[in-house]
Amino acid sequence: MTDSAAPDTSAVYGRHRGGQWINGAPAAGRGGAAAVTDPATGAVLAGIALASPADVDAAVAAAKAAFPGWSAAAPVERAEAVARLAAELGARAEELALVESEQAGKPIRLCREFDVPGTVDNAAFFAGAARQLEGKAAGEYSADHTSMIRRDPIGVVGSIAPWNYPLQMAGWKILPAVAAGNTVVLKPSELTPFTALMLAEAARAAGVPDGVVNIVTGAGPVAGEHLVAHPDVAMTSFTGSTAVGRRIAELAAAGPKRTHLELGGKAPFVVHDDADLDAAVRGAAAGALINTGQDCTAATRAYVQRPLYEAFVAKAAAAFDAVRLGDPRNEGTDLGPLVSHRQAERVAGFVERARGRGAVIAAGGGAPKTGWDGTDLARGAYYRPTLVTGLPQDDELVRQEVFGPVLVVLPFDTDEEGIRLANDTPYGLAASVWTGGIHRALRATREIQAGCVWVNDHIPIISEMPHGGWKASGHGKDMSAYSLEDYTQVKHVMFDLTGAVAKDWQSTVLS
Ligand code: NAD
Repeated sequence: MTDSAAPDTSAVYGRHRGGQWINGAPAAGRGGAAAVTDPATGAVLAGIALASPADVDAAVAAAKAAFPGWSAAAPVERAEAVARLAAELGARAEELALVESEQAGKPIRLCREFDVPGTVDNAAFFAGAARQLEGKAAGEYSADHTSMIRRDPIGVVGSIAPWNYPLQMAGWKILPAVAAGNTVVLKPSELTPFTALMLAEAARAAGVPDGVVNIVTGAGPVAGEHLVAHPDVAMTSFTGSTAVGRRIAELAAAGPKRTHLELGGKAPFVVHDDADLDAAVRGAAAGALINTGQDCTAATRAYVQRPLYEAFVAKAAAAFDAVRLGDPRNEGTDLGPLVSHRQAERVAGFVERARGRGAVIAAGGGAPKTGWDGTDLARGAYYRPTLVTGLPQDDELVRQEVFGPVLVVLPFDTDEEGIRLANDTPYGLAASVWTGGIHRALRATREIQAGCVWVNDHIPIISEMPHGGWKASGHGKDMSAYSLEDYTQVKHVMFDLTGAVAKDWQSTVLS
């Protein structure tokens, strides 16, 4: 696309400067204001108004009013509306990609080839899945009765999303919930609100009834907590850090209301001595550095069996050094900045502390001055792809979520040790194992405690398959039919088949 044909993103920022989408229309938040900045340059993209508790109340009221009609609609009606939403998103793909790239600093290639098509595909999947949602067939468990299982929507779902994949996370939260007949109030991250607002706008254009999809942009402790605790919100669906997930679980416990928590990760990447080394190295670079490492499933700890260890470190360091770090608007750029200077400083802090403890920085380890194409990166929130060795298993860099372009490599000897180390963090979201041996692969996939284990790959996520964690990575599944189940509740309906006034079983109670 030439520049003259490129969509005007400033028009999007102007249209959504109120920060809210309530009952099918933009609205202006009354909870103060914030600036959304482009992390590649530090320039302010737009000012945005933040939601006050009263704005959250208005959005929940709209969702509550829309629920009876939407939940009673035939599945085919919901399916057709979500299919039209998929088409609307597809028609706006380039605009969505540009806005996503600007607000989050993502490479435009990633937005065009991953973030936007992934969300369109997710919408297409849930459009179809809405018509497949079913309870179990009737079970004849007693001669005198027959049963059926209904799956009913839950009501108003309050969803909270992070900044790392703003559009995809909004899609993961909204699409299964509305396909199942719920209505939603979503709070995106105040750092990256625009593509969630654009998704709501696309839903209106698709004919999704007003009030089914609402967006409130606001601060977590203000708008987020008010949404979770709201008495008319029946379920909370959260993607974000484990620390905030704990707070949300506490608030939801007062209901108690159902929670769906997609939290942090610290994915291990286990390389056995019979692995294809070049494939593992390329997999590690792509798996660790996707989205500048700001990915909950990113490879963060590579455990490499001793015979391959030295070669793996040398080749991975070369692969990290070869990554094209630079201006996200350039189609050739592999890696952009982190989402903010704050996040870049956090990453640098982890690496500098590790260096102070004697870690070897085999690649990267600082901020670049110029990009691969000569762009001046001084004002952006950049950090070089960084490979670290020489740390023990109990080091903070090995155990805590860094959320940046940093991969730690440690050696292991026996297969049992590799699996034990892989399981040795509080998290359990994703993992990969690299081996040419079927028995090793099967054993590792059985033993590793994580919601997803890849074999000879790391990162792919697809609409048809569930994504979600174990342990401190949370509970509940995004995407797939499992996600639809999470957004419905099971009801047992039992019929008497005899028509008799006095049933046999009643003689146990009434003589
Ligand atoms: P975060 O937890 O800081 O914020 C996530 C969202 O919660 C934001 O919208 C924020 O405004 C809101 N929030 C903050 N405090 C809140 C509070 N007290 N009450 C209610 N809401 C509150 O996370 P982040 O920094 O935006 O995102 C990075 C984190 O997200 C990482 O830990 C990453 O692993 C996780 N993540 C997990 C998955 C997954 O599928 N498991 C996917 C993407 C990101």
